[in-house]
Amino acid sequence: MLSETVLQQARAEMLDWQGSGMSVMEMSHRGKAFISIAAQAEADLRELMAIPTNYKVLFLQGGASSQFAMVPMNLLRGKAGADYINTGAWSKKAIAEARRYCQVNVVASTEKSGFSTTPVQSGLQLNADAAYLHYVPNETIGGVEFPYIPESADVPLVADMSSTILSRPIDVSKFGLIYAGAQKNIAPAGLTVVIIRDDLVGQTIAGTPTMSDYATHVQSDSMYNTPPAYAWYMAGLAFAHLKNKGGLVAMAEINQRKAAKLYAAIDHSDFYANPVTRESRSWMNVPFTLADAALDAAFLEEASERGLMTLKGHRSVGGMRASIYNAMPEAGVDALIELMADFEARYG
Ligand SMILES: *Cc1c(COP(=O)(O)O)cnc(C)c1O
Repeated sequence: MLSETVLQQARAEMLDWQGSGMSVMEMSHRGKAFISIAAQAEADLRELMAIPTNYKVLFLQGGASSQFAMVPMNLLRGKAGADYINTGAWSKKAIAEARRYCQVNVVASTEKSGFSTTPVQSGLQLNADAAYLHYVPNETIGGVEFPYIPESADVPLVADMSSTILSRPIDVSKFGLIYAGAQKNIAPAGLTVVIIRDDLVGQTIAGTPTMSDYATHVQSDSMYNTPPAYAWYMAGLAFAHLKNKGGLVAMAEINQRKAAKLYAAIDHSDFYANPVTRESRSWMNVPFTLADAALDAAFLEEASERGLMTLKGHRSVGGMRASIYNAMPEAGVDALIELMADFEARYG
């Protein structure tokens, strides 16, 4: 979902951005107008996340999936291996890609539990000589979220924050690198945000393509080649909107409340179930099953009649998944809870 406020502003500016006579889609990315849009977006993201000055912010293409390879290419820095935590589908993809470049040490895995929880800090078998520690703070498909930031001492911490970035304040200084595909919690598809501590830039492995070297993008303010200009602009609108709503402290409060009421509705019913241990439940992605999977289609049909879309669970897990990202208003969660109660009353 995108915020309606953001979509309306984009509509109002669609044909003529602030008197420029052009749509943002038509602008040269080297022109004054777009450069101001780009710079403002970065400034607003820096303010929202309180990003320290020794971190670079990049606006790239290729999705989070490209980062699965760019991270080892850039961050191995002569080391043989990297540590990875495996908490679900996206962790596994990151691990498989990293194996093309280095020895991957899986320092904890919750696969045996069906990815229904997160490992505790004391359960991480960390290697002091690892190039970095990679984890996925929020596993989008399983709806499993770390309730803490792993402690990795001097080893840079790398996080795929695609589905949790901007959901609450975080201490960026604890991370070496953060990346996120924009399409979950920021903007339309096509943009990938990377936040990288500056000492980690510029030590790629031999053969790294120019486009895969963070230094390329740092040196050119993410304009080495044509950037995803419209998605970058939309991200900027979303950042400004979040600032107006009170920033990430306010978002955290709203997000926590939205998630809590949905989990409460699931837990107070024998008809719906969520498999994730309480402390590791995601604020953003809430998977749930119906007592009888044969009713899934009817549930989805009724949901869609009420304007509740995209509730079908990922094809790998089935059931339902409510993605209640920043842009999902609390009223949307209330409407889902009402449908769930109605449906249960008739079929439960
Ligand atoms: C969606 C998602 C991805 C994949 O993102 P793309 O931008 O499509 O490559 C990776 N990691 C997580 C956690 C995701 O939710």
